[in-house]
Amino acid sequence: MVLEVKTIGGYSECGRNCTAIRVDDEVILLDIGLEMENYVKYQQTDRDNLQRVTYDELLEVNAVPNVHLLDEWKSMVKAIVPSHGHLDHIGAIPFTAPLFPNAPIISTPYTIEVIKSILRDERIRLHNRLIAQNSNTTYKISDKIKIEFVHVTHSIPHTATVVIHTPYGRIVYANDYKFDLNPLLGKKPNFARLKELGEEGVDLLLSECLYAHVPMRSPSEAIAKQMLKDVLNGTDVEGKAIICTTFASHIARLKILIELAEKMGRKVVLFGRSLGKYIDAAERIKLVNFSKRVDIVTRRKAIEQYMRKINKVGADKYFIICTGHQGEPRAILSRIANGELPLNLKQDDMVLFSASVIPVEVSIANRAALEANLHKRGIRFFTDLHVSGHGHREDYREMLQIVKPKHIIPCHAGPSFAANFSDLAQQLGYKEGENIHIMENGKSFKLQ
Ligand SMILES: [Zn+2]
Ligand SMILES: [Zn+2]
Repeated sequence: MVLEVKTIGGYSECGRNCTAIRVDDEVILLDIGLEMENYVKYQQTDRDNLQRVTYDELLEVNAVPNVHLLDEWKSMVKAIVPSHGHLDHIGAIPFTAPLFPNAPIISTPYTIEVIKSILRDERIRLHNRLIAQNSNTTYKISDKIKIEFVHVTHSIPHTATVVIHTPYGRIVYANDYKFDLNPLLGKKPNFARLKELGEEGVDLLLSECLYAHVPMRSPSEAIAKQMLKDVLNGTDVEGKAIICTTFASHIARLKILIELAEKMGRKVVLFGRSLGKYIDAAERIKLVNFSKRVDIVTRRKAIEQYMRKINKVGADKYFIICTGHQGEPRAILSRIANGELPLNLKQDDMVLFSASVIPVEVSIANRAALEANLHKRGIRFFTDLHVSGHGHREDYREMLQIVKPKHIIPCHAGPSFAANFSDLAQQLGYKEGENIHIMENGKSFKLQ
């Protein structure tokens, strides 16, 4: 009898999430994500764009999880199970899944659609089968392993807390969630099922721990809507261009923006390839139907043409949503700000950042450069019209109290973050070393 967890990625750093669960001679991999800072740096500096990126190159710069840590488990991998479609959970699949060609990739419909888009984009063909499984349903991987996708809220549709049912115990993998009672797109978290699981008995909870040091409940998406509304209704926008930027995968936020813009009587246009990609994935599974109401323009020539039209008609007739909230140099907003694109902006036009700066070196520098460019041109900008998709200390407390796990492993970030989660768990009576386990990459924990 073996029930064992091996930490592959996301335990010594933030990102490149990957956790292996072994049940006798079968293994499943939960998430195979990118470490975004290393990945972006590599894309920007070291990479010859014409060359196909390989797993080994990305491992060298620590952008992908080190699956060599699986050792003899490698040949036992039976399935890859992503929890949701963010790149720090699925982004390394195109490069890593070929090492496990017989393992199907099983996740919620939106997550599977996003993986398909990335594969198309990177022109990578996987042998792995892709299986879409609705939230709040169970999938049988083998006689000994069943996985269940319990719906939770986050900043991308169809996020799941994955439950691994085995004859030797039950593991709950809650990597990325917040408890949002007003998600504005999609359902509330499935509290009823989480409660039931708590009663049935959970042997181990793996939980994100990024904001265990922030003593609050993560604000609802409805708060982000109110922040945006306050700016748009409380500012004199007459005659002004309005450009808003947010995460391309944040479909709920895009929905809010489109609705607010329509109420203002402006024509909504979205510029940027990644916006097109994530919206397309959402439309393919009929989650939203934005393209019926708004223009989505993704190709460079078409974007330039559309911008010339805006100049002619008047920018105040439009509401522009575009990529570039982190100041990425090649994204639309940076290119508008430095005059590379033909959109005419004038003094006092407005830029709304519906995103916060990701606190890593590259993003901080890129955003500072973008803001300096906007400032130079006299453009007003509004930052942090945003709420996080991650839980905070009080969300984590609720998860612990509902699920009542016997053991706890904090994940998604290194030991200093895990220590904050441990502090919370200790307040609830858990003990470090006994039933709270602070890990690093490449460690294992045996339940059986
Ligand atoms: Zn996420
Ligand atoms: Zn994440």
